[in-house]
Amino acid sequence: MAKTYHDNDADLALIQGKKVAVIGYGSQGHAHALNLKDSGVDVKIGLRPGSASAKKAELVGLEVVSVKDAAEWADVIMVLVPDQTAAAVYEEIAPGLKAGNTLMFAHGFNIRFRTINPPADVDVSLVAPKSPGHRVREVFTEGGGVPGLVAVEQDASGNALALALSYAKGIGCTRAGVLETTFTEETETDLFGEQAVLCGGAAALVKCGFEVLTEAGYQPELAYFEVLHELKLIVDLMYRGGLEYMNYSVSDTAEWGGYEAQAYIVTPETKNKMKELLANIQSGKFAEKFINENKTGRKELDAYRKAEASHPIEKVGGALRAAMPFLDPLKVENGTVVKA
Ligand code: NDP
Ligand code: MG
Ligand code: MG
Repeated sequence: MAKTYHDNDADLALIQGKKVAVIGYGSQGHAHALNLKDSGVDVKIGLRPGSASAKKAELVGLEVVSVKDAAEWADVIMVLVPDQTAAAVYEEIAPGLKAGNTLMFAHGFNIRFRTINPPADVDVSLVAPKSPGHRVREVFTEGGGVPGLVAVEQDASGNALALALSYAKGIGCTRAGVLETTFTEETETDLFGEQAVLCGGAAALVKCGFEVLTEAGYQPELAYFEVLHELKLIVDLMYRGGLEYMNYSVSDTAEWGGYEAQAYIVTPETKNKMKELLANIQSGKFAEKFINENKTGRKELDAYRKAEASHPIEKVGGALRAAMPFLDPLKVENGTVVKA
């Protein structure tokens, strides 16, 4: 069983006694910074001066300085820029890292794959909320917290875990529970989950189901509702009560048909493919390819995005969601999110 920490296991005073630089003000950055500030922590934001995020942070009264100045000022530096950017941003952080400082992350990628190599005299730890940033903020303001993970890679001070738990309390995670892990386990399971099940697996199932129905002559609108729209309703049931509660809630027809279908859809070959994905993550092959993709202009990523956007399910889905304002539908236009 994973060791789990709650509010009583963490001392908020530790992080309240430190100067904390939050580098980046995106999904995670805004949530960490605002929650810490509400928890009485001395926070500055490190960003490129004048950037879109810098304006947002200043608008809510946060102090924004350059990454270099933030790192120079702080005792604790939390790196919340995109993973593919962190190694370059670290070049601006490194000169400000003094013995006894703490370098923190919300995902272990750059430490696990050694694109960032901190000096031995600083603590290196991780607090990873298991939630998108906007929920980290929302749930906190409602008095709760999202669950999280904690890990220590380097413990120069002997106090790295206690300080990481204090940080986790400051952003609300100990209210829900913080599980102890390592950078390696967090990174490898996170990458595997998003590839095999969450982002890769689920999207592939949805598209394939839509294709089979429409190629058989069924109307695309019906296919959309059956394989995409209703997926959320099923996942909500799993989220609240696991597979058993999902199966309890759906009709006996759906439950029986589901059991019968499982072995057709996920075959031993599928499992072997999942094992291959995991092996590529563990060996560093996936990380190497992703790092290289980012260094060479992200051409494959661009092609993937174009192909995904042109799938017929996206066209019919956009039209259907526009007629369902209760969903608060959104769309991505030139890399930014707008109301649909
Ligand atoms: P975002 O893409 O939302 O944040 C980007 C932020 O980084 C922006 O404020 C951007 O500012 C800033 N930034 C980008 N490049 C630079 C640069 N060169 N110098 C300074 N600032 C820069 O990131 P996320 O919040 O999604 O991810 C942050 C970390 O959290 C990652 O390690 C990720 O794996 C982890 N994580 C993310 C989760 C999520 O829900 N998104 C969940 C759990 C962990 P600008 O306006 O200047 O571009
Ligand atoms: Mg991830
Ligand atoms: Mg049905």
